[in-house]
Formats: sequence, C-alpha cells, structure tokens
Amino acid sequence: MIDLRSDTMSQPTPAMREAIASAEVGDEQWREDPTVNELERRAAELLGHEEAVFVPTATMANEIALRVLGQPGDEVIAEELAHMLVAELGGPAVHAGLMTRPLRGEGGRFSPEEVRAAARKGDLGHVPATRIVAIENTHNQSGGRVWPLEDVRAMAETCRDLELALHLDGARLFNAAIASGVEPAAIAAEADTVTICFSKGLGCPLGAIVAGSSERMLRARRYKHQFGGAMRQAGIVAAACVYALDHHIERLADDHARARRLAETLHEAGAPVDLDQVETNFVQLDVAAIGLEVGVALERLAAGGVGLSGTMHPGVLRAVVHLGISDEDIDRAAEAIPRTLGVPAHAL
Ligand SMILES: *Cc1c(COP(=O)(O)O)cnc(C)c1O
Repeated sequence: MIDLRSDTMSQPTPAMREAIASAEVGDEQWREDPTVNELERRAAELLGHEEAVFVPTATMANEIALRVLGQPGDEVIAEELAHMLVAELGGPAVHAGLMTRPLRGEGGRFSPEEVRAAARKGDLGHVPATRIVAIENTHNQSGGRVWPLEDVRAMAETCRDLELALHLDGARLFNAAIASGVEPAAIAAEADTVTICFSKGLGCPLGAIVAGSSERMLRARRYKHQFGGAMRQAGIVAAACVYALDHHIERLADDHARARRLAETLHEAGAPVDLDQVETNFVQLDVAAIGLEVGVALERLAAGGVGLSGTMHPGVLRAVVHLGISDEDIDRAAEAIPRTLGVPAHAL
C-alpha cells in the first residue's frame, strides 16, 4: 500500500537505524546521556531558545509547556481544531487545569484582533484570566497550512502587549520553515515555549522537544519527571533525532514538491482538490463534493492500494506525503485515486 494516511507512518531509514545502533548512551534522568544532551543543545540552538528538553512525544511537550505557562483556572486561547484541543484527550484540563477558549480559524490561523477581543483580565473578580495563546504551525487539521512569519510576529507582539504567554505547537515547524523560506529560529524564537515533533516528517520512531527560557525549562524538567517522561538510556531514541536534524530537514522540500505534484495531477483529473490549500506536505480531498461518504471512499482507495485518512472536516480526506513516499508512489497514487473514486478524467 502507498501509505499516505499520515507522516507518522514514516519508517526509520537504514541509516537512521545505524545511528540508533551506534548511539552513545547513559542515564538520561541523571542528565548523563550524551546523545540526549547533544540533541537538547542542538535543538535549543536551532530554535533560538536558551534551553530544550527532550520528551517522548509532542503531546507531552505541549502539555508540559501549558503546565509551565499557566495555573489551574487560567485560560488558553487556541484555534478550535488545534491538536491540543481536539487530539490530546482534554490534556490541558487534566494536566494544567486550564480552561480552553477555542477561536474559529481560517486555514488554522486567527488574528491578533480576535485575541484582543477574546482575552479576559482575571481582575474582574469572576472571570478566568487568559494567560496563554497557542498557535500551531503548520496547522494539522487545516491541511498543513502555514502561519506566515509576519503573522507569527504580529501575534507575538499582541501577546507581549496583553501580557499573555505565546506557545507554538511546532510539531511540523520545519515544514513551516521550509515552506516560508526562513530559519526555524525566526519562527520559534517569537514564542515563549515551542514544541517540535520528531515522529512526523522527520521520520523518527518517537521523540519531541519543548524549548524555552532556562527558567521555564527548569520547571519543564520537573513536570517531565512528574508526568512520567524522565527516561534512562534514551540516547537510543535521541540518536535518531540527531540524525534527523542532520539529514531530514532540508529534504522536507521534496515532500512539499511531491504533495504539490499529487495535488496538481489530481486537480487536472477533475478530483476535488483545492490547490490553494496545498502549502506543505498535505493534500486535502473533498470527497463529499463528488457525492462519496468518507468511509466508502477510504475503502475504495485502500482496495486500490492507496491509504488516505479522514479529517475533522466532514467529507474531507487527506493524503500526507513523507520520506517513505517516492516520485513513483506519487505517480501511482495520482493515477489510482481518481480511478478508484470514479472521478472522470477531463477530455483532452
Ligand atoms: C502529531 C501532533 C502532535 C503530537 O505528536 P505526538 O508525538 O504524536 O504526541 C502535536 N501537535 C501537532 C500539531 C501534531 O500534528
């Protein structure tokens, strides 16, 4: 099967497995794992933050960041389909006691004006205090959409003005940086805390980073341990992440080019793809527009050898390109998708 369900389906490459096999390791909880220490040092530098903390998953990284930035009863503003609101099982309420304040976004983005209108001061006696704004770049549920750097900057400025902390869920930050043509730090340094994920397009088996100021990361390390995320010879995993920083960031541009080519070929074949939405490694397919139910469409695609997945938008499927997908896979998928869905090709 050509597995385009998610970039989490990416497999560690043989070279990454070699890096894993030869990793120098130690007790991570004691801060004695040289590979984890190296990864944290490099990640902090790459993200333009004082310090970075290695954790098993980006979900944990987000939850730790929220715990560091807010107190129980505080409010976090995020886009209504942000991963932390729809895919972390209520974690912000469980781990940090936060109220969540969803804003409806456009392509995953919301504006500084909307934050100004929504933010509440807790000094009125009754209302929860808004303390945190969380943005997601690229935004998963909208189809890997990018926050342009100027929008991130404007949001950061508004947060400073309103004395709100800004968290960046940058699970796919490197996709955003490549698509924007800027350094990852240019985006990440605008936020007070940032999460990156190694198990998506970077192709690692697991791993994530939360970064921020030294003072915040000292607390992050305590929460990491409290949440059960302090590990032992974690360099086995961190070695894959170091390898990915060296070898799998630049190549994300290939994934973007392949997603674009898939989208254009499907569009030409008359498939319901909005090309304007294809900014990174996702292609969205509105099967409702051609009268198909999501479940039926997914079954037909799977029978035709192509794996896509549903999204939170009714009737919309996604194809996610990653390092396991070759040019040939794209050719085959571009042919199989319209054929199995019964999309008539345009007459030439
Ligand atoms: C996948 C994802 C996460 C969580 O990553 P895990 O490592 O799977 O926990 C967080 N945020 C976004 C935007 C994601 O896409």
